[in-house]
Amino acid sequence: MGLIYKSKNVTTAERDLVKRLTKQCLKEIVKSKWEITGPRSEKLTVAKVWDKLYLKVKCRGQSSSGGKNYMCIDVSQYRKGRTFQHEYARIKNDPIIGEGTFATPEDALMLIVAHEVAHLIHYNYFIYTRWLRDGDNTPHGKNWQKIYRILRREIVNKNMVRDVDPEKKVA
Ligand SMILES: [Zn+2]
Repeated sequence: MGLIYKSKNVTTAERDLVKRLTKQCLKEIVKSKWEITGPRSEKLTVAKVWDKLYLKVKCRGQSSSGGKNYMCIDVSQYRKGRTFQHEYARIKNDPIIGEGTFATPEDALMLIVAHEVAHLIHYNYFIYTRWLRDGDNTPHGKNWQKIYRILRREIVNKNMVRDVDPEKKVA
């Protein structure tokens, strides 16, 4: 069974939301058409990925992270009702995986979750996956971006309103 830990100041509703968004991303990325596999070309399932996962939910205004069987999601921006979500300088202007404004704070949180699910999947499976094995496998490198791009296109960007921060606009 997957393990979820929440910090004391995180509500059960916030924890359950992160769990639901994480499972939604996993459900997409394990689809056969994306051809991401385990050892010996073994097909991935949500259960296989989930069962090994340690998911932590915090609210400290810090960054989120993801790696081998691990994800840590900070819900501070979500709790503040922010609908704009930043991305790393390296990718923030990319039309698909860049930063943007979303319909709701939950949709903006989905960007964070998708970003970290991409790290989790990349870290755990790039070595077993034919189309990811070679090339740039650094943490925000080209192969991680390919996984993240799938999640952005199929899930996250459906609720993207525009690619600028409304709070930065001059009246
Ligand atoms: Zn990252």
